[in-house]
Amino acid sequence: MRLETLAIHAGGEADRETGAVAPPLHLATTFKHGPAGERIAGYEYQREGDPNNDRLRSAIAALEGGAAALTFASGMAAIAALLESLPNGSRIAIPDDCYTGVRALAAEFLPERGHTVSKVDFSDLQAVRAACAAGLDLLWIETPSNPGMKVCDIAAIAALAHEHGALLACDNTFASPVLQQPLALGADVAMHSTTKYFGGHSDVLGGALAFARRDGLFERVAHRLHVTGATLAPFSAWLTLRGCRSLPARMALHCANARRVAEFLASREEIERVNYPGLASHPGHAIAAKQMRDFGGMLSVQFRGGREAALAFAGKLKIFTNATSLGGCESLIEHRASVEGPNPVSPQNLLRLSVGLEHIDDLIGDLEQALG
Ligand SMILES: *Cc1c(COP(=O)(O)O)cnc(C)c1O
Repeated sequence: MRLETLAIHAGGEADRETGAVAPPLHLATTFKHGPAGERIAGYEYQREGDPNNDRLRSAIAALEGGAAALTFASGMAAIAALLESLPNGSRIAIPDDCYTGVRALAAEFLPERGHTVSKVDFSDLQAVRAACAAGLDLLWIETPSNPGMKVCDIAAIAALAHEHGALLACDNTFASPVLQQPLALGADVAMHSTTKYFGGHSDVLGGALAFARRDGLFERVAHRLHVTGATLAPFSAWLTLRGCRSLPARMALHCANARRVAEFLASREEIERVNYPGLASHPGHAIAAKQMRDFGGMLSVQFRGGREAALAFAGKLKIFTNATSLGGCESLIEHRASVEGPNPVSPQNLLRLSVGLEHIDDLIGDLEQALG
């Protein structure tokens, strides 16, 4: 089956009891069992699994082409569960440009476990090769990256990681499985903040890991989730599965709109630089074209007039909302440096845009009036 069809049907078997075409929502925390704990339909206690999470997990595994998937209360819970399932003293590489929460995990929590974390520019394969040669257990990549929109070559990095006996995990949140499938390119794990494009409506928090193999790593992470309990609530799983149904259709419009926004902003004097992998001028354009079906709904722009020009522009927008997060129907914009805490790493002249599903002429009109 093609991805568009899978997105609509995976995890969507009609309800056996009623024939309901939309999945029933099971809120039960406990499931009747026999006197010696014999399970009736495979369930026992919600923290250890429930029908709504199972449906979502099978849909995400199908969309990512994985052997299995796990769902979590948030994207960060998914990342933490994976990294904490590594043996103490593991050597981990993270991108020089990546999600703020991963940087915080690396700085504050991973060292408590004796892990060492290095930052690598994954867009530079020589740097990746050198980092692997120095000894790594897990490479954590993010492509396109937040908020610099850097692109790295998943297949080439998977080959290097495996040559050196390391695992490769890829944060696939910005692309979604519709545009990019890291497991097919050789990654061992693909991660999502399903809060973003999967949910798609800015109303449900969640995270997921899709595994290339149902092996020891999968078992360790599943066990950690069951014991530590960062479980996705059934209603959140239900909403996220509903989001899957329209994911390919939404991604097509996100991509088409973002491309137009990127081209418009690139044509303006006020803008020093547009970071969008769909532009031929983007340093990662060729790799993105090779490993992505389209270039996504996210971009960032850097203003010639620095921080003040960026903030003045963001303040004048009427359709784009100043807010964090991404992947919803509505267009959002954010001055990342302002929300990154005490030591911001994003350039002060940078704004990140999540281009939504509004009419493109209204979006361009809004950007145009704000530029003045
Ligand atoms: C939002 C996000 C996360 C974290 O996910 P939460 O659901 O907010 O915990 C991780 N990676 C990327 C790229 C994200 O955008």
